[in-house]
Amino acid sequence: MTNPDILIVGGGLHGLSAALHLARCGASVTVLEGEFVGRHASGASAAGVRTLGRNPLEMPLSTISMDMWHDIAELVGDDCGFHAHGQLRVAETDAQIAAETQRIARLTAAGYDNETVIGQDQLRALVPGINPKFIGAAYAARDGAADPHRTLVAFRAAALRAGVTIREGAPVTGLCRRGGLWAATMPGGTVSAPQAINAAGAWGARIAALTGENIPLSAKASMMMVTERLARTIRPVVGIIGRSLSFKQSSQGTLVLGGGIQGRYDLDSGRTFMDFHALARGAMAATELMPSVSGARITRCWSGIEGKTQDLLPVICPARAEGLFHAFGFSGHGFQLVPAAGAAIAEMVITGIVPPTLQPFAADRFSQEGAAA
Ligand SMILES: Cc1cc2nc3c(=O)[nH]c(=O)nc-3n(C[C@H](O)[C@H](O)[C@H](O)COP(=O)(O)OP(=O)(O)OC[C@H]3O[C@@H](n4cnc5c(N)ncnc54)[C@H](O)[C@@H]3O)c2cc1C
Repeated sequence: MTNPDILIVGGGLHGLSAALHLARCGASVTVLEGEFVGRHASGASAAGVRTLGRNPLEMPLSTISMDMWHDIAELVGDDCGFHAHGQLRVAETDAQIAAETQRIARLTAAGYDNETVIGQDQLRALVPGINPKFIGAAYAARDGAADPHRTLVAFRAAALRAGVTIREGAPVTGLCRRGGLWAATMPGGTVSAPQAINAAGAWGARIAALTGENIPLSAKASMMMVTERLARTIRPVVGIIGRSLSFKQSSQGTLVLGGGIQGRYDLDSGRTFMDFHALARGAMAATELMPSVSGARITRCWSGIEGKTQDLLPVICPARAEGLFHAFGFSGHGFQLVPAAGAAIAEMVITGIVPPTLQPFAADRFSQEGAAA
């Protein structure tokens, strides 16, 4: 069997997106996924497509990604269930409105026009039935949400059509450079390639450590819950400033509630554990936002493990070792970045030059030398 040009460790959305873009540039790519495609963060995601409130350092990449989401069928042949119904973060106090107004003025001065502040009338029109104690919101009208599973199916199928090989049940246990190739070992074999990408999500630091590179990474296990179907009244994704809540209604009418409420995780087994007290606090925040849903029954809940960095920005950069690249640690908000990050990673791998959109995400920002630079 001939070696691929590039092997990718991790079959989440970021591994698949990078694979797709690389294959479209003519590279032969093999994705090695330890379990099955989308098993962890990408399959558990709330799939919010959000520029709202993003770290300004992510905005150049996020802005490109948002344009790509609006044309996502062109990239992967399916609309991924994406709807641009907007995202809102609602405010209870004048002080919160003033702080959001200042933040958005800074954003506008930096050249971004994705957010505005809206008052109570527009808020009520967008979110009928909202608790009247919420007096306004930060609003990003082009934001929205997608269907995570449809997105996974679409990226996987597009990658396969482009010629990518996806090997599931292939947990990489060793990664070393031999004779100008990266050799990834897994039970039952080795795959070698001149270049490799570490897209192993919450396990990204473990893959880096196999090559002798130490990158600080912790993890989180955000929890989600979904209710029975209700009459469809809410279109945008709604959060509350300063609280862990994201509230949206699917096209089937179910409420999908999340926003970073944390469960527990075990990286060795890959398992997560629900914290039902925390989940109850999330449900109460939802009923505070929208009193009419207080009788809705929760039918299902789940959580997913995601890599989390100290500054909540991803690690996307060349590794210390030649021919290896990192792309992990999206810290709970990487879904929106998937289309553009894959394109930028492909550019970095093919040209060897880090594009400006990725420059804030170098791993050496966590080391003393990087921090001093
Ligand atoms: C509950 C939840 C809600 C979220 N909501 C949003 C949202 O609304 N909006 C948003 O933008 N983002 C959201 N996110 C974040 C987003 O889903 C993630 O940032 C994104 O999916 C990360 O993709 P990934 O490919 O980096 O990681 P993953 O999808 O975790 O993929 C990494 C893959 O690597 C594999 N792997 C690990 N180690 C090995 C190994 N040794 N060998 C082979 N394979 C290996 C894993 O099995 C896994 O499949 C949410 C995340 C969660 C968990």
